[in-house]
Amino acid sequence: MTQHPTDLRPQGRAALLKAAPADAPGVIAIDLLQLAANWQGLRELVAPAQCAAVVKADAYGLGANRVIPALATAGCTAMFVATLGEALQARALAPGATVFVLDGVVPGAAAAYAESNVVPVVSSLPEIEEWAAEAEARSKALPCVLHVDTGLNRLGLSAAEVEVLAARLNQIGGRLDIKLVMSHLACADEPDHDKNAAQRSVLNRLRALLPAAPASLAASDGIMLGPEFHFDLVRPGYALYGGQALKTRPAPIKPVIEVYSRVLQVRDVAPGETVGYSATYRAEGPRRVAIIAAGYADGYFRHLSAASGATGGAVAFGGRLAPVVGRVSMDLITADVTGLDGPAVERGHWAELIGPTITLEDMGAAAGTIGYEVLTRLGRRFHRVYLERGRSA
Ligand SMILES: *Cc1c(COP(=O)(O)O)cnc(C)c1O
Repeated sequence: MTQHPTDLRPQGRAALLKAAPADAPGVIAIDLLQLAANWQGLRELVAPAQCAAVVKADAYGLGANRVIPALATAGCTAMFVATLGEALQARALAPGATVFVLDGVVPGAAAAYAESNVVPVVSSLPEIEEWAAEAEARSKALPCVLHVDTGLNRLGLSAAEVEVLAARLNQIGGRLDIKLVMSHLACADEPDHDKNAAQRSVLNRLRALLPAAPASLAASDGIMLGPEFHFDLVRPGYALYGGQALKTRPAPIKPVIEVYSRVLQVRDVAPGETVGYSATYRAEGPRRVAIIAAGYADGYFRHLSAASGATGGAVAFGGRLAPVVGRVSMDLITADVTGLDGPAVERGHWAELIGPTITLEDMGAAAGTIGYEVLTRLGRRFHRVYLERGRSA
């Protein structure tokens, strides 16, 4: 088996862009080797706690059909998704893994969950009653994760509900196979926030009211808060995909994706002329503007537009930044390449949208959002290349 040239390193990057179909408006390169390495790095960091993987929303937009098998091959045996549909896909792609469904048992769906051999993360008393009734009907205990709320006030049983449940377990406890007691942090991206330790102690207090079961609290940022947040299982998503939200305590991970788009044309814009819809940008002097085949339909947010005097997004050419000028439209962006050092930008060149110069976080911040949203909005028109051991396809 030949090893693939190391993927997103410069020589790999050039080869990859060269191999893109001539008509591809853009390329999204997804390095599955690095993704697996990120998971393994986190697994080592949290051992002896178990490291699951969160693969909801089509593996954060990167393609569950490729990401899930790569994680399973790397040794991951616990995967979290949001919906039953996602769970069925994960089941088929990683038959050996346990698949947890974060949305829990939606009303009327208990039978479908039970038949699919997936584990719902249950968050309310009515949901638990439905799941226990389903178990009763099948004369067997059904697996579940109990989600307790420790201060996020999103999904999860409140402290009062945990007490009610604890009393009720005398009757229905035999029907529930409680795999895990979990909660979710509100402020894990702020390591000094009081809420982190507060939520940890609430989890400890609530789990003591319930039958003994492993516990889980941390997602990507929570892992970096330290071992006292790892409990028995951690649930990273974003960090696996190369997201580094927490600058102060970086996770042992590296970027996984790079995104490039073609320059369709380079034009001279005369002083006083405007660029793009609504004429929001006016050239003060002569400008060279590259027209690039990426727009908001490709996940290049319209919030990255830049009117005169305001900063928006940027693209890069060989490490040189070219600021977006004017409006981002559905299929096109316009970037100012006037006076860039080095070789002139020309028709057919590739503009980096995310890569060695512009990180996922840079792009998220410029768009007034977070890298998570950037990933899950990556469009469908770009050519996707998955880098894995032995080949890229
Ligand atoms: C999405 C999600 C995660 C993963 O979060 P990341 O910040 O992407 O690591 C973990 N747990 C729950 C409950 C989630 O909803």
